[in-house]
Amino acid sequence: MSKVSFQLKSAGYCTASQSHALRGTTSRTIKFYATYAYLHHPKYGHILFDTGYTTRFYELTKSFPMNLYAKATKVYVAPEDHAASTLRKAGIDAKDVGYIIISHFHADHIGGLRDFPNATFICTNQAYDSIQNKTGLSALKQGFIPELLPDDFNQRLQLINIQSAEHFDPHLGAMHDLFGDGSIQLFQVEGHARGQMGALITTKDNPFLLIADAAWLKENYQKMHLPSPIVRLFFDSWKNFKISLQRVHDYHLANPDTLVIPCHCEATYRQVANDLTDETE
Ligand SMILES: [Zn+2]
Repeated sequence: MSKVSFQLKSAGYCTASQSHALRGTTSRTIKFYATYAYLHHPKYGHILFDTGYTTRFYELTKSFPMNLYAKATKVYVAPEDHAASTLRKAGIDAKDVGYIIISHFHADHIGGLRDFPNATFICTNQAYDSIQNKTGLSALKQGFIPELLPDDFNQRLQLINIQSAEHFDPHLGAMHDLFGDGSIQLFQVEGHARGQMGALITTKDNPFLLIADAAWLKENYQKMHLPSPIVRLFFDSWKNFKISLQRVHDYHLANPDTLVIPCHCEATYRQVANDLTDETE
């Protein structure tokens, strides 16, 4: 089994009410970091799982209908926060990133795709079907800004059909072994967005389970503490969200040495990230 190196980074954040992420709690404002994972594979090189925000979000949400997105979500990101900038500082050229695994097509996950001209994009059939040819209001309903996709996106797309995968985890279900070496195994976590994908990453140390937005905060999956019912409005399926959350919860209990990473959980990010330096707004 090949092992990859793993780092959790973030590119910007948005603010939200804690009571939306955890029902029944106070409405204090919390930061939803737009994290992404940088992976290095001994054979396949530089790989990203999502990209976080870029300042393109501001440019593309100036006019109707996408200005509604900006009104609903207060986003903080600067050019130096972009995934490509962070990688450059670490000596990695964006041109050398070979793969980007897209968990789902919300703007805080795909904001940086245009900065990686040679990457192959990996997503599920279902996620792609949910955004394909969507523009204007129908795109907005999916939390999708079409212009965030590179012009040659379709040519560089590798669609994954996880349901036909050969491997099976008792909690997470079908697991697609991306490179056939056990290093990166992809699974589906439905509910938040159609076809949303997570990844189990095998490193030389403990594994990581990237669950994207199947939970927002660790309390969601650790204690089965649900978000506010208000957020159902933005979810693909509340019923499937709860099923996925239960699966992650069960996986966590059965695999306590695997660190589960909800994309936007600040506490989890602090636990694993080594580059969180600026805490001021
Ligand atoms: Zn999302």
